[in-house]
Amino acid sequence: MPDDDWSTRHSVLTTARRTAALVNALADDRPDPDEVAAVLLAYGETGPVELGPEEVTGMRAAAAPLREVFAAATADGAAAVLNRLLREHTGPLRLTSHGGTAPWHAHVDRDDDAPWAEWLLASSCMALAVLLWDRQRPPGRTCASDSCRNVFVAQGSGPERRYCSRRCATRERVAAHRGRHSAGGSGGAAEGPA
Ligand SMILES: [Zn+2]
Repeated sequence: MPDDDWSTRHSVLTTARRTAALVNALADDRPDPDEVAAVLLAYGETGPVELGPEEVTGMRAAAAPLREVFAAATADGAAAVLNRLLREHTGPLRLTSHGGTAPWHAHVDRDDDAPWAEWLLASSCMALAVLLWDRQRPPGRTCASDSCRNVFVAQGSGPERRYCSRRCATRERVAAHRGRHSAGGSGGAAEGPA
C-alpha cells in the first residue's frame, strides 16, 4: 500500500509503484474509469478525480509503452526503452510543489495541468529512470505467472521477486506441487503443504 507520509508521498519508489498499479488497472481492453481513479486517489491525488472515457483511452495508450519497461529483462533493455520515451514524450526537467500543496518533486511533463496521459507517461519515465540509475537493474518486472499480466516494481535488495503478489506466488506454488505429484506417480517428495 502507498505510504501516506507527506515527505514520501511523491518519492521515487511510491511514484514507480503508482505507475505499476496504473499499468495494471489500464491493462483491460476497456479499463474501468472508476478503478483507474481509485488508484490515483490511493496514491495521494486530491479528489475528486473524474476521468472521462477519452482520458482513460489516452492513459491506456500511455501505459502500453511503459509495460515494455517492466518487460525488459536487463538494465540495458529497460534503459533503451526509457531513453526512447524520454526523447519522444517528455519536456525539460523542472521542480514543482503544486503551489505549496505538495512536497517539492520533479516533473518532466510540460506543466502542472498537462493531460492525464502526458502526466502518466512523464512521471512514470522519471521514476523508472531514477530507479534504474540507482540500482543498475531493470526497475520492474512482469509477473512470472502465465495467467497474470501484472507488472510490479522490483524490490531494492534481497531475493528477486518473481510474482506480482502473494496470491500469484501461492497459486503457482500449489500448481507446481500438484504437477509434481500427478507426474511423479507415488509422489515420494517429503514436501509438506504450502
Ligand atoms: Zn501475478
